[in-house]
Amino acid sequence: MIVFDQVNKFYGNFQVLRNINLTINKGEVVVVIGPSGSGKSTLLRCINHLESITDGVLTVNGISVSDKKTNINKLRREIGMVFQHFHLYPHKTVLQNIILAPMKVLGQTEAQAKETALTYLEKVGISEKAYSYPSQLSGGQQQRVAIARGLAMSPEIMLFDEPTSALDPEMIGEVLDVMKALANEGMTMVVVTHEMGFAREVADRIVFMDQGQILEEATPAEFYENPKEVRAQLFLSRIL
Ligand code: ADP
Ligand code: MG
Repeated sequence: MIVFDQVNKFYGNFQVLRNINLTINKGEVVVVIGPSGSGKSTLLRCINHLESITDGVLTVNGISVSDKKTNINKLRREIGMVFQHFHLYPHKTVLQNIILAPMKVLGQTEAQAKETALTYLEKVGISEKAYSYPSQLSGGQQQRVAIARGLAMSPEIMLFDEPTSALDPEMIGEVLDVMKALANEGMTMVVVTHEMGFAREVADRIVFMDQGQILEEATPAEFYENPKEVRAQLFLSRIL
């Protein structure tokens, strides 16, 4: 579903992605970990073309992301993204935040969009907050709204960039639970997170990045019990 083939990316003279080869299949959950600055966010952002690649080929559903003929808006419709900071519109209610894109981009009527939004709010466990404003919600609740907003577009792929790292510890679990449920339903997911419990339970594969390179790809059991790369061992010794 997502294929990186010899992908390089530069910011000016700085090479942020180095010869990335990575294949993510439909229904897979891939967790990306690595030190700060190793290129994890950039890797994710290339998938929905928030960043463009410098060379190599990156395809999503067989369509090249960097091809000028590719309809990027159509591509982005298939890909939901959840960020560390929730990026909700502060002056809109929860429901308004969720129905915006389905109405604007998918052309849904307000009634349709509301119905869908309420379904997803129920799914993430906060339908009672539909008419609240983001500031009236806890961080964990806001992040669940952000997930519901992504899902309301019926994407085929969900990208998560450190979705729990801005949350108070007691709220991390409720967000990870929503993500676990999504994974169990077969959503294709690429998740940047250092939450080992989640990774061990849910990930099909761990991708370890350092200095713009993928140094190791392994199952969670292999990776956490027996990391092969010295830099992966060092990284794990620091975060665990
Ligand atoms: P990570 O998510 O693993 O922390 P990032 O992908 O955010 O890493 O960043 C990788 C490197 O690229 C960092 O050194 C960062 O400073 C640099 N970088 C990120 N975005 C830009 C940008 N827009 N312009 C220049 N350098 C950037
Ligand atoms: Mg990052």
